[in-house]
Amino acid sequence: MKTQQIDKIFSIWAAENPHPATELNYINNYTLLVAVVLSAQSTDVGVNKATKALFKIADTPQKMLKLGEENLKKYIATIGLYNAKASNIIKLSQRLVDDFNSEVPNNFAKLKSLPGVGQKTANVVLNCAFGQPTIAVDTHVFRVANRIGFVDENTPEKTEIALLKIIPRKWQQHAHHWLILHGRYICKARKPECKKCKIEKFCNFKEKTQP
Ligand code: SF4
Repeated sequence: MKTQQIDKIFSIWAAENPHPATELNYINNYTLLVAVVLSAQSTDVGVNKATKALFKIADTPQKMLKLGEENLKKYIATIGLYNAKASNIIKLSQRLVDDFNSEVPNNFAKLKSLPGVGQKTANVVLNCAFGQPTIAVDTHVFRVANRIGFVDENTPEKTEIALLKIIPRKWQQHAHHWLILHGRYICKARKPECKKCKIEKFCNFKEKTQP
């Protein structure tokens, strides 16, 4: 896709929603990190329901360690893979206390060294907590970026690298939020709502429905 078209698509999204943000609720960098770890293969709505009570009593690594793994599980039992996630949250909280002065590090390699933190989680935290122009590729970003024709890649990792090359720098800060929101509400996995889509005329998806 030509840069001019890419630019046009992001201009449309920016005009509609100039300051897109994560739909996960959080109150500080630590609770953002915990919420993103919990959101793997789960919906933001489901995570927000669980963290509403959790973050009232555990909004720092120390408080989470005091709460303990078994009690943490009770708060997050409605979230998929909660046993593994509880274990990782306790381990990463201990690492933050031991190695990072209880602060969430502003560094990709350090973030990725934390239990339960992968490429996507590290990128979301760097973007939302520290304002870095990272592009976290989740299922929506992967689908939408390849459908529209921004990129033609078969893995999230390759999609991230390709997106960083083709998205103009001025759009990179918010790019992944616009892509997620477009995927969540318009360009849905099974039935994209092409009739409602404001970027339809720029989209290269062969199976798109015409307005
Ligand atoms: S036209 Fe359809 S397939 Fe293309 S981006 Fe819009 S909703 Fe998705």
